[in-house]
Amino acid sequence: MSPASLPIVRTVAELRAQVGAWRTAGDRVGFVPTMGALHEGHLSLVRLAKAKAKRAVVSIFVNPTQFGPNEDFAAYPRNEARDAGLLADVGCDLIYAPTAAEMYPSGFATTVTVAGVSEPLDGAARPGHFAGVATVVAKLLLQCGADVAVFGEKDYQQLQVIRRLVADLDIDVEILGGPIARAPDGLALSSRNAYLSDAERPIAAELHRALTDAVEALRAGRPVAEVEAQAVARLLAAGFARVDYVEARGPADLARLGPGPIQPPARVLAAAVLGKTRLIDNLAV
Ligand code: AMP
Repeated sequence: MSPASLPIVRTVAELRAQVGAWRTAGDRVGFVPTMGALHEGHLSLVRLAKAKAKRAVVSIFVNPTQFGPNEDFAAYPRNEARDAGLLADVGCDLIYAPTAAEMYPSGFATTVTVAGVSEPLDGAARPGHFAGVATVVAKLLLQCGADVAVFGEKDYQQLQVIRRLVADLDIDVEILGGPIARAPDGLALSSRNAYLSDAERPIAAELHRALTDAVEALRAGRPVAEVEAQAVARLLAAGFARVDYVEARGPADLARLGPGPIQPPARVLAAAVLGKTRLIDNLAV
């Protein structure tokens, strides 16, 4: 499909009209919310949506409310024409790219907060971030009315927040998690990797290597506190400026584990800053 034949709608009304027509015709609809600057990670989610549903809708919206005041909202990469070309190639059927005014019209006053699973890790490091995410994702899911929505395990805590949100608010959609797409050296693909300098790029892969070794150590029965501390020290030694966390947590509720040895299943999650770029990653134990 050429980008020219891939429609882009910018209003809730147009989105609902198209999704409604597909569902009336008996077609299942899959939905992949994104902030654009698409890479293979996003495209793998669209392929997953297409495997689960005849039609795939991808939203592109750089949501201002999930960025902190000193974060990269203004600098976040935006290239709708390039994104549209990539989406056409993987069989996306519709792009939904609303304006900020369509999402947050004058008078907008509602915030969705998810207690518990939103609070540790990125919830602690980025105050207000998950309230912004939960609010916009609740809106997007209700606007689209898809049968299935796909989110990446790259943002593992976000995926758990969304599962909780959808269950608690009875939003009628199946939530599917997609595996993390990685570069050959293991670095999780991210739109923010574009911020990394040539010197930083090879160091960035140390995050994945540290998590891989942490998982192996935990499986071998080493104490959680020791494994976490070792991973933090290793990242700082490799050149990361700051490590927000490396922590082993329960896989669904993200409850704290340790400090002693643990039994799988668990998830090890990390966030660390390299130069000006904040990277996150996680692995299953
Ligand atoms: P974003 O555009 O960063 O908000 O991401 C949109 C969706 O793509 C989210 O569900 C992310 O978890 C997912 N995603 C981002 N990077 C990856 C990746 N490397 N592998 C799999 N999914 C990803």
